[in-house]
Order: sequence, then C-alpha cells, then structure tokens
Amino acid sequence: MKKINFLDLHAINNRQRDELVTAFTRVLDSGWYVMGEELNKFESQFAEYCGVKHCIGVANGLDALILVLRAWKELGHLNDGDEVLVPANTYIASILAVTENNLIPVMIEPDINTYNINTDLIESAITNKTKAILPVHLYGQLSNMPLINEIAKKYNLLVLEDCAQSHGAHFENRKAGAWGNAAGFSFYPGKNLGALGDAGAITTNDNELADTLKALRNYGSHKKYENLYKGQNSRLDELQAALLRVKMEVLDGDTTIRQKIANRYINEINNSKIFLPAVEKQEGHVWHLFVIRTSNREELQTYLQKNGIQTLIHYPLPPHKQLAYKELSALNLPVAEKIHAEVISLPISPVMTDEEVNYIIKMVNNY
Ligand SMILES: *Cc1c(COP(=O)(O)O)cnc(C)c1O
Repeated sequence: MKKINFLDLHAINNRQRDELVTAFTRVLDSGWYVMGEELNKFESQFAEYCGVKHCIGVANGLDALILVLRAWKELGHLNDGDEVLVPANTYIASILAVTENNLIPVMIEPDINTYNINTDLIESAITNKTKAILPVHLYGQLSNMPLINEIAKKYNLLVLEDCAQSHGAHFENRKAGAWGNAAGFSFYPGKNLGALGDAGAITTNDNELADTLKALRNYGSHKKYENLYKGQNSRLDELQAALLRVKMEVLDGDTTIRQKIANRYINEINNSKIFLPAVEKQEGHVWHLFVIRTSNREELQTYLQKNGIQTLIHYPLPPHKQLAYKELSALNLPVAEKIHAEVISLPISPVMTDEEVNYIIKMVNNY
C-alpha cells in the first residue's frame, strides 16, 4: 500500500485541470483583475447555491467574519465591549473576528458528541451585554440552528454563522449560510469549496448589511474616491472568483463522495478505543473533516503513520489556551479541553479510492 496523504490537493484540482486553465486564461486575457464580471457571476451563483439574496466576496474567511461584525458596528447594532457567544472549541479565526472588533468572546462549551456548541448552555450565558451569537458548523455539520435562532429571537441577538467548514451543509433543505443574519465562508484551498489561494465570502438576506459590506471590503467606498467608512482592502479577485466558479461545479458531487466515505467509517470502524462522531442528520453533513476521539491520540497517530496513513489534529489547543489569549487562560472549559486533547482526523476527500478507505478501516480496527 502506498502512503495515504491526509489531503491531496494536487489530485483534487487536477481533475478539473483543463477547465481551470481555461478560466485562468480567460482572466489573463481579459486585462481586468479586480472587481469585475467574474466576481459578479461568482457572487450570484454562490448566493443562489446557498439560497440567500446576497453574496459578497472578500479576501478570506477570517475577513468575512471580521467584516460582518464591523458592519454591524457601523450600522449601530454592536458597540465596543458587547459580548458575542462562541463555541469554545473552534478554529481560532472565529475568536479573532470577535476580539479584532473590540467585542468580548464568551466561550460556550461544545457538545462532546457532535463537537458543535451545546445549545443547553446558551441561555444561561446571556447577560445584558450579549448582542450576538456566532455558531461554528464545525467539521461540516450544522449547529442546531432552529434552536439557536429561537434563542436569538427571544433575546434579540444577531446570529453570524461561521460556515468555513460547511459549504452546502443543510437541515430541512435550508443551507449553511441561510440561517443567520449573516454568514462567513472561507475558500482556503483545503476547504470543501477551495480556491487556488485565499478567498472568502459573506452571505446574507439583509440589503442594508450587504450594502455596507460592499463598501467596507473596498476602502469604505460605495463610489470611487468617496469614502463613507474607514474601510479595508478585502476583495475577492477575478482570478480566484473564476477558479471558484469551476470548482463549484463539483462541490455537490464531492460532498456525496465524502458522505459515502464517512458512512463507511461509521459503519465499519469498530474498535472500543475509538469514539466516532455523532451525526444528527447524515444527509445534511458535508464532512469537511472526519474527526474521531481516542484517549491516547499520539499513540494512534504514530501507529497510523507507521502504516502509511497521515492524520492531522483539528485542533491541538483550544483558543483559550493559546498564548495569544492569555486573558482567557483561566477559563474552566473541561469539555472543550477534552475534545482538543483527544481528537484526531482521518483522511477524507473526494479523490480517495475504495482500496484506501478499506485499508484505513482495517488499520484503525487493528489498532
Ligand atoms: C478556515 C476557517 C476560518 C478562516 O478562514 P480563512 O479563509 O483561512 O481565513 C474560520 N473559521 C473556521 C472554523 C475555519 O475552519
């Protein structure tokens, strides 16, 4: 058996090599590289895909989250020092978006089985400073959005979905990005919809927010050389937009392959040392990552590595234990800490062969 890499981006993109080269050539030859037709077309296609009115392309997923919170500040919906509820076990970008805006992240423990925010703990964390909730659809599975939206309505909170890992995930035919007041997506190359470089987008049904965001991503300007806000330069360039339009063609097919592999792992991995992820609705889970837990993860990782299987850890340290967040280090978040200490991600991708999946299952069961 040859080595199984965690994610083979070359093989993933090579499937569409000709179409990608055609898109690249079209942009090269157009002579127009920023804020043009490719971006407009991608934004309409992605908005339609998510089932929302607006998509605003930006430079990356972190900027998407930062800019939504920033726009809510410009619109008077948020102020410095307001609290934002976030799951404690996320990628650090979700927290950075909050602190970057001088807002306070209030860390909520996740559910140990789904790894998403534990909705039973949300209401007790709400204070008169709480203004927003930022659920992260971690590893490809939607958070419990019906319940989160119900709580948000009751307490008048804004909802910003972090959809960086959940392109196309859905529940009752409503997709990730269409549940909150706004959502941030990342198209980092390794995400389920990945560009050939950095890229991101915001989705929303809110016209005023979309308008504000279009200015904020472009120096705060709605109109050339007139600046309404002290904005940023966070634009999704024509080249990445054109490449993303090609990649969108295979997104749903890729998701189906991911789901088949995940199903096999769930049905065929059968080792008492391994905890499998809990799935609330299999058909809506897009399996960005297949994350298992085990008490001696280093041992399992070394064992799999020796047998030619590369695994990764998403993520080794929770945000509140990062040096960047010393001020949060005293928080008591045992569930998040346990998850970060025990998780390990098995390879899952649209270019894996049945033989590779068979082999991984066999090796994990022999551990
Ligand atoms: C990847 C990711 C981001 C950030 O996206 P970038 O495009 O890398 O800036 C944000 N949140 C989560 C949960 C992510 O996985």
